[in-house]
Amino acid sequence: MAADPVAFARDLLRCPSVTPAEGGALSYLADRLKSAGFAVERVTFSEPGTDDVENLYARIGTGRPNLVFAGHTDVVAPGDEARWTHGPFAGDIDNGVLYGRGAVDMKGAIACQLAAALDHLAANGGRPKGSISFLITGDEESIAVNGTVKLLAWAAARGEAFDHCILGEPSNHDDLGDMIKIGRRGSLNGTLIVEGRQGHVAYPNLADNPVRRIVAIMSAMMAEPLDSGSAHFDPSNLEFTSVDVGNKTVNVIPAEARGRFNIRFNDVRSRDALKAEVEARAHAGAGGGRFRIDWEPSNADAFVTTPGPFVELVADAVAEVTGRRPKLSTTGGTSDARFIRNYCPVLEFGLVNRTMHGIDERVATADLVALTAIYRRILDRYFA
Ligand SMILES: [Zn+2]
Repeated sequence: MAADPVAFARDLLRCPSVTPAEGGALSYLADRLKSAGFAVERVTFSEPGTDDVENLYARIGTGRPNLVFAGHTDVVAPGDEARWTHGPFAGDIDNGVLYGRGAVDMKGAIACQLAAALDHLAANGGRPKGSISFLITGDEESIAVNGTVKLLAWAAARGEAFDHCILGEPSNHDDLGDMIKIGRRGSLNGTLIVEGRQGHVAYPNLADNPVRRIVAIMSAMMAEPLDSGSAHFDPSNLEFTSVDVGNKTVNVIPAEARGRFNIRFNDVRSRDALKAEVEARAHAGAGGGRFRIDWEPSNADAFVTTPGPFVELVADAVAEVTGRRPKLSTTGGTSDARFIRNYCPVLEFGLVNRTMHGIDERVATADLVALTAIYRRILDRYFA
């Protein structure tokens, strides 16, 4: 009998696993995987000042290639539960639609990965021709320090090697089959700090107004596009998200002005080269005036999995099941793929992301069935 992804998804949605709570979700997955013959490891990671978080690594087979399904069972908080049509952890199905926090981001996809793996094994004597692994964290939605990044290092230290990875993040915007993410932009945060000299607003010659200078510097930083994009990426973009002087008084020129900004960047420049470019533009805008930029540490560099046989295999499976040729994209925010790509080629394909993190997050049960068929096709071809 075929595994039922809708039942798996429903059971997982009933586990209240808001980060960092495990909520029973990893235990549920561990039980199903163990029954199918997977060797399952549960690992808890800690870091001073953060919550301990549980993670899971499971593998069946000892040979290569090792195809990894990656994902997270933690979810963001449901917000005001009274505003949900169906309880966020009830797992209700209404008119062919399954409701619940994590339905698309991303317990639904994990249910499909699980069902596809069990079906593939059942059809192939219970063992893959190489190995199938699950790399599942409980720490993705929050600060992501006790999750995938540590789980990968832990697995590598045990001698685990990965050949390809499919991360089940919701990659489609409108319909299943729209989009495969083959990379992600990098993300960098900085603060522009301009110091002046406080004084009376009626005597500006006795003061040094940092507002004038910060406006000029910000204009210079934003004036021209940072680049014109590359083969797989849109142009890098710098956005100021806040400008502050903290001044509550109308007749005082403030002593300091600050502007916070974020850059989503592509693979045209390295992170350091990008910082140098932004600082050069700021210097030009400052016209010799003083300023500084404080850069926050970042673990999100741009990366791309160059299209080739693996990407084609997945795109073909998507097209055959959905009738849509997926766009290969690097848009959107960061994801755990930024850590996985240091170990093996990774792409992201999951459900439709329209309701993720929202009230009434939901998935059509037909999408769960179709995504399972896609993952199954990928497994069958990969190990053919
Ligand atoms: Zn997610």
